[in-house]
Amino acid sequence: MSGPVEHTSPKEACGVFGIFAPGRSVAPIVFDGLYALQHRGQESAGMAVSDGSTLMVVKDMGLVTQVFNDYKVAGLVGHLAIGHTRYSTTGSSSWHNAQPMYRQAGGTEFAVGHNGNLTNTDDLAILMGMLPGMATSDSDLIAELIARELDRSAAEPPSATVPPSPTVPSSPTVPSSPTVPSSPTAPPAPGALVKALVEVLPRMRGAFSLVLSDRSQLVGVRDPNGFRPLCLGKLDEGWVLASESPALDITGAHFVRELEPGEVLVINADGCRSFRPWPAERVQPTLCLFEFVYLARPDSRLYGQELHGARVRMGELLAEQAPVAADIVVGVPDSGMPAAEGYSRRSGIPYGHALVKNRYIGRTFINPDPRQRALGVRRKLNPLKEAIAGRRLIVVDDSIVRGTTTRAMVAMLREAGAREIHLRISSPPYRWPCFYGLDTGARTELVAADLEVGEICDYIGADSLAYLSLDALKKATGVPGAGFCDACLTGNYPVPVSSHLSKTVLEQPLPARTGAGR
Ligand code: SF4
Repeated sequence: MSGPVEHTSPKEACGVFGIFAPGRSVAPIVFDGLYALQHRGQESAGMAVSDGSTLMVVKDMGLVTQVFNDYKVAGLVGHLAIGHTRYSTTGSSSWHNAQPMYRQAGGTEFAVGHNGNLTNTDDLAILMGMLPGMATSDSDLIAELIARELDRSAAEPPSATVPPSPTVPSSPTVPSSPTVPSSPTAPPAPGALVKALVEVLPRMRGAFSLVLSDRSQLVGVRDPNGFRPLCLGKLDEGWVLASESPALDITGAHFVRELEPGEVLVINADGCRSFRPWPAERVQPTLCLFEFVYLARPDSRLYGQELHGARVRMGELLAEQAPVAADIVVGVPDSGMPAAEGYSRRSGIPYGHALVKNRYIGRTFINPDPRQRALGVRRKLNPLKEAIAGRRLIVVDDSIVRGTTTRAMVAMLREAGAREIHLRISSPPYRWPCFYGLDTGARTELVAADLEVGEICDYIGADSLAYLSLDALKKATGVPGAGFCDACLTGNYPVPVSSHLSKTVLEQPLPARTGAGR
């Protein structure tokens, strides 16, 4: 519990964007799309743009606005592109691990952007005989897998057909667009990249929403669990793929549908067609429940629900489950505010403001100096003293991960004169680490891993603490039976994880990668 104070909620893990729009110069559109997805990752940004004959990649460390200026965007000419914003979950935060990843192999050049986290990264690396450092992130490994398949396939005599894909039933909760085939089909005209994907994707385990492009086509992939979101939009002249629907809105694209778990969507001059390379038994929708709680933007739509409304409902149910007498309900900016609104509405206690967030905080960092680290919460939040002094506060937040930020915030509210502080959390205790695309640290860093709610309350210094139940959280989504991952709340991991999986698994020496537990 002596960790950095900057984390109040689980950290995001990448946004992806793709566009195919013949006749348009798409780099400025990719910039806008990535800007709308900036909340999903602030470490690096990049895009790969094709004009049909060359695929050019620009990527760098920093925010979208730091990596791209008008000059750089103007230099990226083409009608086909993918883009990426990164927060690292496997692989360190470095330029090499910035995305899109690029490879040229077997006469095909391609780029790939990845949101999620593979769970069999080390097994794949060992199977491929890769030495430490040959691929430094799971996304790099995906690119390498595809590249090797392209090389292998190019060395073979030409084959007439691609094997037909197994069939899976369509998800009842994600309606398909009548204009975009999504029923089980064989892969479309077998370009080399698509053929390679048919071979490679079934070997991958874990969470991966991908955008890929070669010189002439855009491909979207959602893993068979659909851990991370990916949606399709329609422009007059073409198609857009994005992690979240607000990135469609900003580009003027109309939302068509979410890609289904286990779906591969290929977009090119012949149109837009999907296929499924996984057997039906591998497809089991388990969208990350924390996309609803915190990760995705409130104006995003998932499983057909706008998330702001779902978060307000979480607060309403929290008020029913954990009432307490108080003078004012406040939300921790920004992610606790919709649930605070719901709590206030259902309890009848006035909604107010007690904390002001510095909106220019940008990317946070872990300062090695503990005195500077202690300033972390004050860099981000400052109390409104007149609104707080002498009052009984209900403070609503979306989650508590390490607890250090929450503890510092409670101390700050007490200093500002709060008479009572009742903390209400719009999700259950976060007890288990995420291996599907969030950086939550090890289990030992999670405050709820071994402590009961009363003990957490004592540690945080609040007068009372209560969490929303899992059933109520799922009910608040509006689609309780739709299929969710709740592993960080229950320890029930829908895809097995290896005990030694860590962020730097590919950068460790080989003995550590093949060590105990295997
Ligand atoms: Fe989301 Fe938690 Fe599952 Fe990770 S473990 S995908 S944060 S629900």
